Amino acid sequence: MSQSAPAKPRKHVPERTCVICCQKTAKRSLIRLVRTLDQGVQVDPSGKRNGRGAYLCHRAECWQRAISGEALAKALRTTLTAEDRARLQAAALQFVLHKDGAS
Ligand SMILES: [Zn+2]
Repeated sequence: MSQSAPAKPRKHVPERTCVICCQKTAKRSLIRLVRTLDQGVQVDPSGKRNGRGAYLCHRAECWQRAISGEALAKALRTTLTAEDRARLQAAALQFVLHKDGAS
């Protein structure tokens, strides 16, 4: 992606908070989830979709808690449907659970 905005030295890295572990991390290393109007809760790798968003870090346990618990649903002010949970579970496999021995 090319950005046409004037180049400014960026001193401040935007930070977001994982809704599960409340750890602050650079926005880029978090995964945004967005509540869409007609497609439920979706993973938003671009971070640009419209809708109420929440961030999760890359820890598998945060995803598991997000999927099985209520914190993510509350952050998004919605209720996770079975479909949402299944979608998030798939996303967790794709985005998070790629541990190769490292913990
Ligand atoms: Zn977390």
